Amino acid sequence: MLQKTDFYINGEWVKPQFQNDFEVINPADEKPFAQISLGTKKDVDKAVSAARMAFHSWSLSTKNERVALLEALANVYGKRSSDMADAISMEMGAPIKLATNAQTAAGLGHIKAFIRAIKTFEFEHQLREDTPDEYIIHEPIGVCGLITPWNWPMNQVTLKVIPAVGVGCTVLLKPSEIAPMSSILFAEFMHEAGFPKGVFNLVNGNGPDVGEAMSAHPDIDMMSFTGSTRAGIAVSKASSDTVKRVALELGGKGANIIFADADVAKAVKRGTMHCFNNTGQSCNAPTRMLVERPAYEEAIKIAQQTADNTQVGLPTQDGNHIGPLVSKVQFDKVQDLIQAGLDEGARLLSGGIGKPEGFVDGYFVRPTIFADVTNQMRISKEEIFGPVLSIIPFDSEDEAIKISNDTSYGLTDYVQSGDIDRTQRVSRRLRAGMVQANGAGRASGSPFGGYKQSGNGREGGIHGFMEFLEVKAVSGWKRTS
Ligand code: NAD
Repeated sequence: MLQKTDFYINGEWVKPQFQNDFEVINPADEKPFAQISLGTKKDVDKAVSAARMAFHSWSLSTKNERVALLEALANVYGKRSSDMADAISMEMGAPIKLATNAQTAAGLGHIKAFIRAIKTFEFEHQLREDTPDEYIIHEPIGVCGLITPWNWPMNQVTLKVIPAVGVGCTVLLKPSEIAPMSSILFAEFMHEAGFPKGVFNLVNGNGPDVGEAMSAHPDIDMMSFTGSTRAGIAVSKASSDTVKRVALELGGKGANIIFADADVAKAVKRGTMHCFNNTGQSCNAPTRMLVERPAYEEAIKIAQQTADNTQVGLPTQDGNHIGPLVSKVQFDKVQDLIQAGLDEGARLLSGGIGKPEGFVDGYFVRPTIFADVTNQMRISKEEIFGPVLSIIPFDSEDEAIKISNDTSYGLTDYVQSGDIDRTQRVSRRLRAGMVQANGAGRASGSPFGGYKQSGNGREGGIHGFMEFLEVKAVSGWKRTS
């Protein structure tokens, strides 16, 4: 069993203040493979004090100094990518190909994209041409508390750590206790890249103890949180007494509107595969497929075929299959929601309750499709976080928009149509932070974030690092008396 019970504080691996061991489970066989510690408020205090000390000099470092260290980090990350993919695959069950080409690669992509964005950003500039004496200075906000989930671990960690340290903040990272191995490895990368002590710190732990202690900490200036809406609310409440900035990236229940004038077969296959990707454990998954009535029967046929062709397999196997869910809690939640779909009268097309044939151990589930779903059912309202697709028919553009927006979430919606005017019209009316049309991928540096209960933050590119900056206005910049 791997022993990873130390925390990374002030540039070194240190013992926790109290011993509180916690086993990390391999979701493919339900067996523990590593031991970490769950920290306490005392560990948080120690890490925050190191980050505060380091902030004095790091906040005054030059852009070039920070970029040089980020480039060194990109180098280490690139060299050790296969270790990272192994760690992610083992801790959260992503098949090794997905862990390598998507999960690990996303982290390196973000590091490089932020380096490009920071290089061109003007941290100081005149307000307007006609105000030569009025200056705007963008300064690092201070010590940042970063809390991340288990589903895209390195994607989430790099979307926070890189912009924060890149603009001159110092950080304390608390990764998900369920999938902490990739972040422990990332701490090794930061150390090897040569970041000054105290700039990056890592304390493992659970939400109610370490997460809460961070959110309430008087010496943390900002919390950047990605996870469930439930925990995001807890972070906001605990942060409010100290009036710290809180950036939230929360859950989603994306609509995928397929009009009959789209290439229906292609759109349905793509949407179904996207919903199942990462075993359905993505906040931006298109989990509600809305299909215009004339295309409904064709859509159901294609979706069913796509589900039946989706292979389930071990994370260690090469291939395009899906792996297990991350945990027993997640497995039980997905089973409960599939049962709710059946109880509420949705038509089961593929999959259903139980494990796929041949699987005894591991949190494997069956890729599941429901048709004739209404937007009032639990499977339409709740974030399932498993490979479960709900297909809902609609009769008009207005109705499709109404159903799409009738959710407490607002992260990513999708539109498929052969009519550009319609695609653009519908995109404007969707209450979501992101809309992807006709299979377009997201450009590097495009802001990622949600409306409503999907959060208030934006990650990636310039928007992503603006969150970690204060804005100072200086009047009389060129005055001598
Ligand atoms: P979670 O909310 O259970 O845990 C996320 C993190 O929050 C973990 O590190 C956990 O320890 C911590 N936490 C839990 N309770 C806390 C509390 N009271 N105070 C402080 N921290 C606390 O979520 P999860 O199950 O790890 O991740 C899945 C969720 O994350 C889904 O809802 C998904 O949609 C969301 N997510 C959102 C985005 C996005 O960018 N919008 C990206 C990935 C995941």
